[in-house]
Amino acid sequence: MATLSQSPLASHWVIVLCGGRGSRLGSITESIPKSLALVYDKPIIWYTFLTLFKDGFRKFLFPLGYRGAMIEEFLTKEFDDRDCEIRFIDTGEDTPISQRLHKVSSQIAEGEDFFLINGDTFFNFDILGMYYFHRRKNSLATFSSVEIISEYGMLIEKGGQLIDFAREKKVSHFLLNGNKNARGHVNSGFVWLNKNALSLIDLENCKNFEQELFPKIIQMGRAGHYKIEGSWFSIDTKKDLNIINLKEGNQKELGSMVQKVKKNLVTRYSYQSRYYADINELKRKILNRTIIPHQVEIQPGPIGRDICWLKCPYCYGHTAQDSGERLTPERYVTIMKQIAEGGVKKVIFAGYATDPLFYNYIEDIVQVALDYNQVTGFHTKAINISDRLVNQITGLSIAPLSYFSISVDAGNNESYNKVHGVPQSQAKLYDQVLSNIGRLVHARAQTQSPLDISATYLLNPLNDSSEEVLKSIHDLREAGVDLIRFTFPQVPRGYSVGPSDSNIPSCDKITENMARLRPLIEKENDSQCQVLILDLDRVHDIYDVPRSLPCFARFIFPSIGFDGWLSHCSESAAPHFRDLAMGNLQEQDFWEVFYNYDVNDFKGGLNVSCNKMEQLNCKCDRKEHVVNSRIVESGVFDDLV
Ligand code: SF4
Repeated sequence: MATLSQSPLASHWVIVLCGGRGSRLGSITESIPKSLALVYDKPIIWYTFLTLFKDGFRKFLFPLGYRGAMIEEFLTKEFDDRDCEIRFIDTGEDTPISQRLHKVSSQIAEGEDFFLINGDTFFNFDILGMYYFHRRKNSLATFSSVEIISEYGMLIEKGGQLIDFAREKKVSHFLLNGNKNARGHVNSGFVWLNKNALSLIDLENCKNFEQELFPKIIQMGRAGHYKIEGSWFSIDTKKDLNIINLKEGNQKELGSMVQKVKKNLVTRYSYQSRYYADINELKRKILNRTIIPHQVEIQPGPIGRDICWLKCPYCYGHTAQDSGERLTPERYVTIMKQIAEGGVKKVIFAGYATDPLFYNYIEDIVQVALDYNQVTGFHTKAINISDRLVNQITGLSIAPLSYFSISVDAGNNESYNKVHGVPQSQAKLYDQVLSNIGRLVHARAQTQSPLDISATYLLNPLNDSSEEVLKSIHDLREAGVDLIRFTFPQVPRGYSVGPSDSNIPSCDKITENMARLRPLIEKENDSQCQVLILDLDRVHDIYDVPRSLPCFARFIFPSIGFDGWLSHCSESAAPHFRDLAMGNLQEQDFWEVFYNYDVNDFKGGLNVSCNKMEQLNCKCDRKEHVVNSRIVESGVFDDLV
């Protein structure tokens, strides 16, 4: 079966024009470029890139211009881990299209076909079909036309009689004055071009690329006309942006279609593909025991103390019992080295029922990840952070894509203490966390370290007032985080949400909060700090769904629990899941435990662990839900489940 990376489009460049000022979007483009304007809290260029990637492109050229660095930063952050080539070339702010193409065309081989599109258009149609049409006709250029929704009211006439009046009518073409046989079709701006066509005009001095080149090719008889069937919506004005976000007009069909496309792209490209490239390859490597997990999560437990002194009522691991077992510090370093030397590229320091920074020797195990240049991620409350750790992770030796995510979940000390069940009501932990963020940001600025610093805020009835949310955004932005992500706590294992639950918001409460807070939060977005709110349970339809089986987590993101046992995933890494755990790393080596599964009776083994998961009532987090269900949906493991 051909995988997408073998698509015929993979070898062709796509040029995404995204350098213009977008001045017709008014104040929106004062601080951001047009293609970062949000459509259902995703930038237009996010849709552009992922739709092209979905259709098979693997070579992307972005001729940057106005606020180009922001586009480059966004795309790099978002898609740097994809198996494709992305090139950004600065072509100047107010540069005509022809000169932009002149500056990037050297990337394209002579005689090569390339796809030219605008970065401000939402689209979903058969680009591969258009490419085959282009090849079949051996065209120098294949233009495409679209049906549009008329922005004017229409007087409908038939046989010279007025028969109706309508708004938002679809128009497929226009009759041209003075030539009643000629029809005008709306140019979509999407064109397959052969590099040779560019030499038909003086690109460097051309004033109007389309006006000078297109008629020339047409008169040569080397042009094709492809009629797009599918969706296309160009975002030129603020009104267009409102229409596509369903804030204006009545194009519900368009709005729901965009949301559907977003949902598909999120599910297709968010968790799953980050964790494995090709599902057939995943299966092959599992069965011949050459699989290397995408990441290993490390949940170290403090030695000689309770696993956690906070009492967050919505803690996902609140049912965890502490057996007191811990890996010795020396053993931990040994295990970390085994993981790195075995080929694991990414380690995450987090906690199911604890906080990784509560571990007394966190700097020693982090140092191993730095020494082996592993992508290093942190999920922590950052209440205490040593100078040594600050210097370690803000040093230049940290691998690109490493990140430090702080869960804050409050906008002031009082609320912080309530939300986290902090016994001493006078504690100033919120201020302490902000100052720790400031230390990290300051240290990073000294070294230009690639570390990404972000904050998460789990909204619940204790901390979701608009005032508190806005205050936390201002404080965190002031502290210097790159991204603030508002979302909602998942329902923990063994927890049932009460009617007016003060810890875990109900579905209705979440919907109400999304409607109330999203406009507030979107306004806070700026070039320094991206702010977004997500209802991921709705996006993935998993609100209060316990688990997605069969479970493949152990092969993709196994976790070492605070008790030192290797577990299938971050949410099953605690002593009460011992029956499910893979082995004790105090006594056994990492790879000995990791590869301890029966390939001859893989199905049997999988069933045994899944039955245990049901009995032990483990509860997936969002990435586990999505990855497990996508693997099952692919059908590749049908013969083994
Ligand atoms: S919580 Fe989910 S991912 Fe983890 S073991 Fe259970 S079923 Fe698997």
